[in-house]
Amino acid sequence: MGILTSTSPATGQQVGSWPTHTAEQIEQAVRTAHTAFTSWRTSDWALRTALLEAVADRLTARREELAALMTDEMGKPVAEALAEVDKCAWTARFYAEKAPEFLADREVETPAARSWVSHEPVGVVLAVMPWNFPFWQVVRFSAPALAAGNAALLKHAPSVTGCALAAEEVFRDAATAVGAPAALFTTLLVDEADVADVTTRIIEHPLVAAVTLTGSERAGAAVASAAARVIKKSVLELGGSDPFVVLDDADVALAARMAVRSRFLNSGQSCLAAKRFVVADAIADEFTHRFAEEVAALRVGDPHDPATQIGPLAREEQVTALQRQVDSSIAAGATVVAGGKRPEGPGAFFAPTVLADVTPDMAVFQEETFGPVAAVIRAFDDDQAARLADDSPFGLGASVWSRDVDRALAVGRRITSGALFVNAVVASDARLPFGGTRRSGYGRELSEEGIREFTNVRTVWIG
Ligand code: NAP
Repeated sequence: MGILTSTSPATGQQVGSWPTHTAEQIEQAVRTAHTAFTSWRTSDWALRTALLEAVADRLTARREELAALMTDEMGKPVAEALAEVDKCAWTARFYAEKAPEFLADREVETPAARSWVSHEPVGVVLAVMPWNFPFWQVVRFSAPALAAGNAALLKHAPSVTGCALAAEEVFRDAATAVGAPAALFTTLLVDEADVADVTTRIIEHPLVAAVTLTGSERAGAAVASAAARVIKKSVLELGGSDPFVVLDDADVALAARMAVRSRFLNSGQSCLAAKRFVVADAIADEFTHRFAEEVAALRVGDPHDPATQIGPLAREEQVTALQRQVDSSIAAGATVVAGGKRPEGPGAFFAPTVLADVTPDMAVFQEETFGPVAAVIRAFDDDQAARLADDSPFGLGASVWSRDVDRALAVGRRITSGALFVNAVVASDARLPFGGTRRSGYGRELSEEGIREFTNVRTVWIG
C-alpha cells in the first residue's frame, strides 16, 4: 500500500497524507458503484434533480472551506478558488433544471405503432482528472453523468487528494440527504507508481462501462488505448495551445487587457488559456507594450491573500519545465518583455512572462506552456494570421479580435478548434459544449452534447 501526500506549492508544507486503496478496496468500490447504478438507472427526474440541487447547496455552504483546500493543495489564488466553487454549484443547478429536457424521449414518425429515441445511462464511468481545476473538472463531468443515471468513480491527481475526498463527501452527503444511493460517486486513491496498471484494470472491469480523462496527451493515449482494447467508450479533454489573434482593426487596449485575463487565469495553468498571441504587424508594438505593462503589474504572491492574482505553480517540476521552454525560445531569438524566470524566494513561483519576436519553430509556440508565459508572434496580414494560428498540433479554443465581426469570423473559420470566440476570451460555460479537436482530444462536455456522451442513444419501436 502506498501513501498519497499533498504539499502546498507556496510553502512546501505538507497539507495531508492518505493511504492508497488496496486492490480489494477498489474491487469493492467498483461493485458498490455498480449496485448504486442498478437502482439509479431507473430513478425519476424528481430524485435526480433533488440530488443535483443538494450537491449545489453543499458546495455553496462549504465554499470557503473548499476554496481554501484548493489553495492549500495546488496554490490557486483564493479569489479564483471561490469562483471555481461557485461555478460548480451553478453547473449542478443548471443540470438539475435542464437534464429532463436534454434527455427527453424524441418521438419519430415511422410505420411503427409508436417509435422514439431515448437516452439511457451507460453504467459506471471512471473519471481520471488533473489537479488544475480540482473541483470544476470533477463537477463538469459528474453533474451531467449522474443526472443521466450513471454512477461515477473518480481517480483524481494525487496532489489534490484532499479535494478529491471532499468532492466525494459532497456527493455522498447530498445523496444521503435526498434518499439516492450513497455510492453514486466514489473517490479511488491510486498509487502514482501503479496508475497505468490500476486504471487499466478498472477500465477492463466488466462492471465499468466507460472512461473520461482530462489531462496530458500521454495519459489520454494510455487510457483511450486501454478502453479501445475492451471496446469501451472514452472521452478525452487534453492539452491546448490556443491562439489569440489580434487583427489590425481591433480595439488594441481592450485586446491587451483581455489577453492578460486569458493567459494568466489560474496562474497560467489552464488548458483553454490563450498561449500564442498572433498580432497584426501594424499594431504589434502597441499591443505588446500594453500587454507587457499589464502583466508586469500583476500581483504575485501568497495565494491565500484575496488580492493575489498569480500564485505558485502547482508543482515544482513545472517551474523547471517552463524555464526550459522559455530559455530555449530566448536562445532561438525570442525577446523577454516581462518576467522570464522564477523570482527569488521560496515557493514554486514563475514570474508572469511575455516573450516577443516569437517564431513558429520555438518551444513556446510548438509546445503547450502550462504556466504564466505568453508568446507574441507577428502576422503581416489576415491570411498569415490564420495560418499561424492554425499551425498547432492542438485544437481546443481560438479567440479572434477585430472591430469587423465578419472579418474575424473569416479568420476563425480557417482555424481548427472546439471553440471560436470573437472579441471575447475563450471560457467554458455549462450552456455550451466544451471539448477539443486534433491532439486536444475528442468528445464534448457540458450542455446537451456533454450529458449525452455517457448515454446509450436507444431506438424503441412498438409494433
Ligand atoms: P496528467 O499527468 O495527464 O495527469 C492527469 C491525470 O491522469 C492524473 O490523475 C494522472 O494521475 C492520470 N494519469 C497519468 N498517467 C496516466 C496513465 N498512464 N494512465 C492513467 N492515468 C494516468 O496531466 P497533468 O500534466 O497533471 O495535467 C495538465 C494537463 O491537463 C495539461 O496538458 C492540460 O492542458 C490538460 N488539461 C486539459 C483540460 C481540458 O479540458 N481539455 C483541462 C485541464 C487540463 P497521476 O498524477 O497519478 O499520474
